[in-house]
Amino acid sequence: MDYLYGLTLLEAHDALRRGEASAVELAKSCLERIDRVEPRVGAFVTVTGELALEQARRVDEHGLVVEGSPLAGIPVQIKDVMCTEGVRTTCSSRMLEGFVPPYSATAVERLYERGAVLVGKGNMDEFAMGSSTENSAFHPTRNPWDTERTPGGSSGGGAAAVAAGECIYALGSDTGGSIRQPAALCGIVALKPTYGLVSRYGLIAFASSLDQIGPMTKDVSDAALVLKAIAGHDFRDSTSLNVEIPDYARSLTGEVKGLRVGLPREYFGDGTEPGVKEAVSTAAALLEGLGVEVEETSLPHTGYALACYHIIAPSECSANLARYDGVKFGLSMGEGRDIWGAMEMTRGEGFGPEVKRRIMLGAYALSSGYYDAYYLKAQRVRTLIRRELDDAFRRFDALVTPTSPTVAFRLGERSHDPLSMYQSDICTIPANMAGIPAISVPCGFSEGLPVGMQIMGPALSEPTLIRLGYAYEQVAGWHRRRAEV
Ligand code: GLN
Repeated sequence: MDYLYGLTLLEAHDALRRGEASAVELAKSCLERIDRVEPRVGAFVTVTGELALEQARRVDEHGLVVEGSPLAGIPVQIKDVMCTEGVRTTCSSRMLEGFVPPYSATAVERLYERGAVLVGKGNMDEFAMGSSTENSAFHPTRNPWDTERTPGGSSGGGAAAVAAGECIYALGSDTGGSIRQPAALCGIVALKPTYGLVSRYGLIAFASSLDQIGPMTKDVSDAALVLKAIAGHDFRDSTSLNVEIPDYARSLTGEVKGLRVGLPREYFGDGTEPGVKEAVSTAAALLEGLGVEVEETSLPHTGYALACYHIIAPSECSANLARYDGVKFGLSMGEGRDIWGAMEMTRGEGFGPEVKRRIMLGAYALSSGYYDAYYLKAQRVRTLIRRELDDAFRRFDALVTPTSPTVAFRLGERSHDPLSMYQSDICTIPANMAGIPAISVPCGFSEGLPVGMQIMGPALSEPTLIRLGYAYEQVAGWHRRRAEV
């Protein structure tokens, strides 16, 4: 049953339903795949083999596949930023190296309720800060298409695991592009939902006004199924939207005639590799061939999004990460010192360099005398960016751009130059700033490496994004290519 790990969620569900395989066999197939490729890929912080088999056995014994959700019995990897009851949750940080949460995140809870099988926790940039998964305190993750290259980040573990067949799908988190950019670099699909659509309860906070959990899958149909499972109101998250969740699978029709799509030229500038521009432009032409009205447009505020993000996200992070004081939970050092000395030692040893950089930047931007000049100004620019997008969505149903300006870069290539690393997120950050949904869909290859197309839409337009993404992939077929690790 070696081929099982290569199936999509829907295919695996069909195989289970028809009795061609059991949930235990499916879990074993992924776990064996993990054994085989993990030394080269490094997509996991923790592999939960025993738990997976136990959960799979329960699905088989209770016949959950037949009566339940399509997620029943399907192996998933969860980014190590989401709390999993009884399973170590580290954020790929020394600070939480030994932290075992007493509860699960709502999104995880919803998967469990549907019979999901947890194969492990995904490696990531420490506290989700980074674009290459090299900021993990434990080990970097490698791109299954070329193990000398990064998978992107910060949810690089999820993207690499899905691309390498170590799990059928993954959950990641996206604050400035962290599921979409790695999805693009690893040739898979990721959908960042509208802010508030998926509960953040149990998602360890980075920048609370930007963070969203989203599915990372092999194709758009799978993303629709996973989103349906995790979306919905949660009273434990005060920013959770109380809206009806549509059946996203109904958007998987291939019918896109008459939809209006804008191509904002700022996303196709000099910083974008020619091979990426070509792949995305070809994809837009294909959509046009399907009856979509495609038109070039301009979003002049795009260029400010990156700078603005690097004020707002660190500001929120400096507040959120203040809780790691060595007293309540997580790493605790400096016994015998006074409280300040112990705190200094804990935070000094527990956080890596990028996290410290963000905390310092944020504390500076929020400090008295600088607050107006930096934080407040950034919030104002954020409003301008949001308005500009709102305005565009009066003319267009969706906007199509590259997901990442480049294909996967080499390990070490950007890790000593934070500014060049930050450039990786130039196309993905605006959607977080505006709280709108965006999907990344594989749209070809450049220099033998995957390229992703991003489709953004107005708040709660997930059905439109799924419709466009699905129609595109059915015709283009890039999602069927698998990496040979
Ligand atoms: N790469 C961006 C950063 O470093 C975004 C991270 C994210 O989305 N979590 O902050």
